[in-house]
Amino acid sequence: MQTCLAHPEYGFYSTLKSVNEHFTTSPEISPLFGEAISAFFVNFYQSQPQQKVRLIELGPGNGTLAFDILSCWKKLTTQNLYYVAVESSPSLTKIQQTKLQPFAQSCHWVRSVKELDQQTDSSFVNFIIANEFFDALPIRQFFKTNDQWFERVVTTCRTDLVFDSIPFKNSTQIAFPESANFYEICEDSIEIMKDISALMIKSPSICLIIDYGYETHTDYKDTLQAIRHHTYCDPLAHPGDSDLTAHVDFGQLKSVTSQQILALKLMTQRDFLLSCGIKSRLDRLHKTLDHTNFSALELGLNRLISTSEMGTLFKVQIFVASGMDSK
Ligand code: SAH
Repeated sequence: MQTCLAHPEYGFYSTLKSVNEHFTTSPEISPLFGEAISAFFVNFYQSQPQQKVRLIELGPGNGTLAFDILSCWKKLTTQNLYYVAVESSPSLTKIQQTKLQPFAQSCHWVRSVKELDQQTDSSFVNFIIANEFFDALPIRQFFKTNDQWFERVVTTCRTDLVFDSIPFKNSTQIAFPESANFYEICEDSIEIMKDISALMIKSPSICLIIDYGYETHTDYKDTLQAIRHHTYCDPLAHPGDSDLTAHVDFGQLKSVTSQQILALKLMTQRDFLLSCGIKSRLDRLHKTLDHTNFSALELGLNRLISTSEMGTLFKVQIFVASGMDSK
C-alpha cells in the first residue's frame, strides 16, 4: 500500500495531477466548507488575539481548502494568517503553490510534521487541519484463525497481484482487541498523531481531523478500498493508479495524544458544519447571487451535510491544547 501510494516515481500521490481526477473531497464540492472552518478558527483566535497565527494543513490536495480558509480569514480579521502545508507529493505541491499564489508571502511547504516540528516557533497559535488525510495513509491487516494471527500480504501469481497471508509471529507487538478476529492498524497515523501532539503541547493549538472512520469498533472488518476515476475497483488491479484508502480509527488517534490535550466528542460532519453556521452563510448569499449560482451552492452544501451523502459518513475529531479556549 505504501509503495502504491508513495513510490517516488510511480506512486498514486507522487504522480497525481489533481485530486478531482479520481475522487471528490468536501473543499472541491463547496467553498462554504472552507469558509465554515475559517469561521470556526476565527472564533478560537479571538481568545488569543495578541499572538501570531499559523494554519497547518496535512495533505492539502489541490490547495482548495487552504485557499478558501485564507480568503475568508482575510475578510473576517485583520490579523495575518501564516500557512504551512505538510505535503509529500511533488506534483501536488506544485498545484498547491500555483493555487496559493495570492498568499505566497505567508506560505511555506514541508514534507512531514516531523520536519515542521524541528522548525517550530512556539510564539505561534497553531490551527491544524487534516481533511481526508489520515484515510490516505497505508494500513496493515491481520486476521485470526485457530488462535493464530496472520498478516495479510500481497504477492504475485504470474503477472497478477494477489492477496496471501503469513503467520504473524510477534503478535505481542500489537494490542489486538480480545473480541477481534480481524484487525487493521495504521502505524503512520500513530506516528503522525504523536508528532502533532508534541507540537500542540508547545504552543496554543487546535486540531481538526475530518475523515470517514470510527471511534470504537464492535465489528472489526476489512475497510481497504480503491477508487479510480470516481469508481470503486479492485485494490490490486491498478497499483499506483487507483486511490487506496481505509477507514480512520479515531479511537487510536485519541489514545496516542498527550494527556494535556483535550479530545472533544467525535461528531458528524453535518453537526460540525451546522454548528459553524454553514447554513446561515449560504442564506446570506441569497441576495447577492443569481439563481443558478445560488442553486449550485445549495446543492453542494446539501452533499456536505445530507445524511444520505457525506453528512454522517464523515466525522470530525477536534483536539484542543490547554490554554486554547473559544470565546
Ligand atoms: N485534503 C485534501 C486532499 C486529500 S488527498 C482535500 O480535502 O481535498 C490526501 C493528501 O495527502 C494528498 O495531498 C497527498 O499527497 C497527501 N499525503 C498522503 N500521504 C502523505 C504523507 N505521508 N505526508 C504528507 N502528505 C501526504
